Amino acid sequence: MFETLKEQPADKILALMQTFREDPREGKIDLGVGVYKDASGNTPIMRAVKAAEKQLWETETTKAYTGLAGDPAFADAMIALVLGDAVPRANVAAVATPGGTGAVRQGFDMVRMANPSAKIFVSNPTWPNHLSILKHMGMTMVPYRYFDEDSRGVDFDGMMADLAQAGPGDIVLVHGCCHNPTGANLNMTEWQAVVDLLNKTGATPMVDIAYQGFGDGLDEDAAATRLIASSVPETIIAASCSKNFGIYRERTGLLMAVSQNSAAHKLNQGTLAYLNRQNYSFPPDHGARLVTMVLTDDALRMDWMAELEEVRNSMLGLRDLLASELQRASGSDRFGFIAQHRGMFSRLGASTDKVDKLREDHAIYLVGDSRLNIAGLNKETVPILAKAIVEVGI
Ligand code: PMP
Repeated sequence: MFETLKEQPADKILALMQTFREDPREGKIDLGVGVYKDASGNTPIMRAVKAAEKQLWETETTKAYTGLAGDPAFADAMIALVLGDAVPRANVAAVATPGGTGAVRQGFDMVRMANPSAKIFVSNPTWPNHLSILKHMGMTMVPYRYFDEDSRGVDFDGMMADLAQAGPGDIVLVHGCCHNPTGANLNMTEWQAVVDLLNKTGATPMVDIAYQGFGDGLDEDAAATRLIASSVPETIIAASCSKNFGIYRERTGLLMAVSQNSAAHKLNQGTLAYLNRQNYSFPPDHGARLVTMVLTDDALRMDWMAELEEVRNSMLGLRDLLASELQRASGSDRFGFIAQHRGMFSRLGASTDKVDKLREDHAIYLVGDSRLNIAGLNKETVPILAKAIVEVGI
């Protein structure tokens, strides 16, 4: 029977990681995969997470199942982190999920249950896994204009024109902050216009927030999500703890369904718990418990916030440095967008053959769409990259 299976396309970023590993050249630079790396190229365990892990080891007395929705304290802590006091807690249904990917997948599942013919409006481009999960699920995708190839900012007019086509029963998928793969984001005036449009068309927003704290700060990065959730009748939110807690492999995320009344809340909560049961039953607990401990203990939380600030500022510093090195190397201001972008990524807007040339001639690895991971750089490699970018003619 298995001979009927079709070969599936390899994940491009994972394949790139493999090529990088096999590259024997010294001084090769990996700006591909989306994990945070410090100046020496390590992905550290955050201090507060390590401390919480130690405490947990000493105090945890059972590994018995949690609830189907995960530990309610995790949902409370994460809802407070993401939504602040933008919406009453009673209006938010939530379940723990395996990572942000689990939350995204389960959010789509919920949409499909509610409306099998929903059209999902996705930014062009978006995180490729959005597209492959939707394809796998047989759901309908409609791309909306997002990245402006000339300015390397957001094509806001194009985006609004395309989103005007979404109607009741459709989903508009947005990135809460730090857009992946482009790094280009809306300002709050533009977000307000998106909210007004959603209210006009009746489409439902789904916010994927995977980099809270990586852009302009924890509250600043959640501002759009909070605005949306408090301004429209229903919002789905998929939050990831992988990046901002540095617990990638622990698979920790939260799926939220925000409604404006308690009757809807009960139905949403039941649906989300049901979906957990069907897909994997109880969600993973270890990472969720660490996050809860960090967020609810004053000392751990302060230390986590301080370290997250260090991470954020180091990426901003690298952005500024790269933009100014590029200005020097190219003698033009055309790379100023790198300092404007936010989060871990920037899309250079270069053709695949130039990305190939960077890899072949300079051992610098970017994703094929010219996305570079800013956190893969350090003070020594920034000038090398700047020179190579100019040399290959980007
Ligand atoms: N959404 C976006 C936009 C992402 O970039 C990522 C991580 N690459 C995720 C969701 C999910 O991450 P994870 O499943 O590792 O938490």
